[in-house]
Amino acid sequence: MKLYNKSELMPLLEKFGFNFSKTLGQNFLIDKNILDKIIDNSNINQNTNVLEIGPGAGTLTYELCKRAKKVVAVEIDNALIPILEYNLSEFSNFTLINDDIMKNDLKKLIQENFESEKFIVAANLPYYITTPIIMNMFECGFNVESMILMIQKEVANRIYAKPGTKDYGALTVGVGFYSSPEIICQAPPHCFTPQPKVSSVVIKLNVYENQPYHVNNKEMFFKTVKSVFSQRRKTLVNSLSGSPFINCDKIKIENALNNMGLDLKIRGEKLDIDRLAELSNLLFK
Ligand code: SAM
Repeated sequence: MKLYNKSELMPLLEKFGFNFSKTLGQNFLIDKNILDKIIDNSNINQNTNVLEIGPGAGTLTYELCKRAKKVVAVEIDNALIPILEYNLSEFSNFTLINDDIMKNDLKKLIQENFESEKFIVAANLPYYITTPIIMNMFECGFNVESMILMIQKEVANRIYAKPGTKDYGALTVGVGFYSSPEIICQAPPHCFTPQPKVSSVVIKLNVYENQPYHVNNKEMFFKTVKSVFSQRRKTLVNSLSGSPFINCDKIKIENALNNMGLDLKIRGEKLDIDRLAELSNLLFK
């Protein structure tokens, strides 16, 4: 079945009386080249477990099922369930869960399906849940090896940004803390039906097996990062001392900056992840 082929996909969707939902971010992939790139770069083999979020009509799912050990897909839209069951009926390694990924008990889902084995995440993500999904996956302490994701170009730019640029922020640091991001390819609007207004990018997040950044207190590190970027026009000293997320006096912050050899007027957005980790370690035990 060539679900990436619009002339095969559309009659099938029509047969099931399916209507696209804008609210659920339904823009289905119809570009074989992009599909191949996602598959080639996800390094799937017979031992790979895959969690797919938002399978849609099953275009990517079909290719994943052909290669992986096990594919578990979570789809919110009831209307897509019979279509997915029909399109993927030949696979015994496929499990479909009709649920909202934001409300699902992910820990339970992963334990039940993958036990303690590693898995990868594959998704052409609805834009409205991109950031929470990525951060949830990192923070829940799962055995995620990598995530291959289709995301909005602007979000990819933020993930990939360099310190001191306008796109550099809490998302860059959050993703970079847990993984090394890799841009796989661009996906302009014509690669989807219906066409979205924005361009997309396929990105791969290679999750670190051994954390390169040492922080004394992860919670305080992320609160420091949040403080820096929620008041990014201020100097680092002012954004931290005035932050509602942490309790730290000016003298302590100035001492930490002196210790790190930094100008007291520096803005936090100039610091890379290493230096942000160093700073939070000086401020919090
Ligand atoms: N993977 C398909 C493809 O590439 O053609 C569809 C991608 S479409 C951009 C996003 C999919 O995510 C849709 O099928 C939509 O119904 C589903 N979705 C949206 N919000 C969701 C949620 N909270 N939980 C699970 N699935 C969701």
